[in-house]
Amino acid sequence: MDRAEWSFKSFRTFLILTFITFPILVTFTVRHQNSIFDLIQGFNAKNATTDALKQGGPKNNSVEDGKKNALSLSTTTNIANDKLLDGLLVSSFDEASCSSRYQSYLYRRASLHKPSKHLISKLRNYEHVHRSCGPSTKSYNKIMRKGANFSINETSRECKYLVWTSANGLGNRMITLVAAFLYAILTDRVLLVRYGADMIGLFCEPFPDSSWLLPKNSPCWEDLKHLETHESLLMKNKVNNSQDELLPPFLALNLTHIHVGHTNLFHCDRSQDLLQKIPVLILWSNQYFVPSLFMISLFRQDLSKMFPDKDTVFHHLGRYLFHPSNEAWKLIQKSYEAHLAKENERIGLQIRVFNIHHPPHQTIFNEIIACTLQNKLLPELDMLNSSATSPLKKQTSKAVLVVSLYSEYGEKLRTMYQANTTVTGDLIRVYQPSHEEHQNSNDDMHNIKAWTEIYLLSLCNALVTSPRSTFGYVAHSLGGLKPWILQGVYGKAIPDPLQGVYGKAIPDPPCQRAKYMEPCFQYPPEYDCRANKTIDFPSIFNHIKHCDDVSSGLRLVNDYH
Ligand code: GDP
Repeated sequence: MDRAEWSFKSFRTFLILTFITFPILVTFTVRHQNSIFDLIQGFNAKNATTDALKQGGPKNNSVEDGKKNALSLSTTTNIANDKLLDGLLVSSFDEASCSSRYQSYLYRRASLHKPSKHLISKLRNYEHVHRSCGPSTKSYNKIMRKGANFSINETSRECKYLVWTSANGLGNRMITLVAAFLYAILTDRVLLVRYGADMIGLFCEPFPDSSWLLPKNSPCWEDLKHLETHESLLMKNKVNNSQDELLPPFLALNLTHIHVGHTNLFHCDRSQDLLQKIPVLILWSNQYFVPSLFMISLFRQDLSKMFPDKDTVFHHLGRYLFHPSNEAWKLIQKSYEAHLAKENERIGLQIRVFNIHHPPHQTIFNEIIACTLQNKLLPELDMLNSSATSPLKKQTSKAVLVVSLYSEYGEKLRTMYQANTTVTGDLIRVYQPSHEEHQNSNDDMHNIKAWTEIYLLSLCNALVTSPRSTFGYVAHSLGGLKPWILQGVYGKAIPDPLQGVYGKAIPDPPCQRAKYMEPCFQYPPEYDCRANKTIDFPSIFNHIKHCDDVSSGLRLVNDYH
């Protein structure tokens, strides 16, 4: 065999081998994408271990005793696991840019709820999509910069966007952000947030190597009121059975509380068929519309795999998304270490008053006291002063975190426990971080205080919250807590023969323990898309029930109960 013939044969063998191995390699890579993400994740976790060791663990005075001991004994793998919240987070962020991301585990007890492998792989996949399509990428510039002049035929099929816009207070904004994020994950859209200045200082960037902030030069930044809404498009589509060419590239998705009943068709399968063809959706919402996503058959299987425990959606996605900015984190750490860390137990009271005239503050205060005493969250006062003299009683200390716009609540409770001893001998310290008196909008410091207080509440061992308050929903869901919900604070008329409708009477029982952690979808749809009539959704879905605090609202529950 001469040299030329040998070279030819070798080349032919090489080609044959390439033809055989290449498809195998491609199939393997596609099938094992998630495992590859897992491998990378494992590698990241190892790096995190080293980081934790370098830091020398938590500061002694900032964590509960039990947590401290557990930490000193735990293996490095456990530290990495705790730090990355059982795989929810990746370690590729610069720690200095967002201290809270890797320090939260020192303050909040490890969650009893582990994220599923499927959820973790969906998050890694989402991060990949966001990195490839986010601001400054080629696709982003192509689709988002051209604005409404963009023709649907030009759409790259790969990148689609969901732009979140802010409405109402911080609690409402955070519940809608989680709902929007879940919708983005399910539909392979990139979530971008259109913040006002009042939200810039609150959170760290949640996604690695990219930003979730909608750049200001984007066409979506301008007034979007002229955009067609999904409702009108769906109606048109129903009438015309319209073709793709009629679809706009940008569409307003209006899921605010006023769009309920028959006009809200978002949860219908056919709406999703249409919406998935629109490159850019601009979301307007103040509602936790996650239960709607569980009604859509297209998403149901994926959602069940992501959340085998359905009442953990906000708990996992909220802890994934919301990391306090360094400014907010300093305030949280300072408050926690000065007022809450040293006590044996932390009880959070969230008192949201929607109408300052009815019922009177004193009635609400009486209700809170009745609730905390009946449920043994706080001890009774010792009117006979018997416990103070008993040296045998083991005293525990409890910190009561009072969170309210009004100073009366913290002051009254502090005076009550300062002026009296308790029957158990427990020491009660009351701390109210702020009393803003009014709900403000467009004020960044006001929002930072609100975020700090939501976060501090989420670090408590037990919570009493106000009904209908999204502020309270976020606190208890982040903390993985089932709160005691006050019964009568929100404008519920309690007949009182002596005082009129809103008098001194308090409801009996004054509060009830929530059965589930998920926030309530307060204004859910009522329309059954298939039967074309109104329906009570809990009658057809066993993982959806009415809320503890809003009887017409809907929330997710674990369907194995
Ligand atoms: P919701 O109205 O109770 O559902 O909760 P939101 O968070 O959506 O709106 C209430 C807004 O009022 C918050 O975002 C804060 O700006 C303000 N606010 C209400 N209660 C408190 C409180 O206890 N502390 C602080 N700092 N702000 C509060």
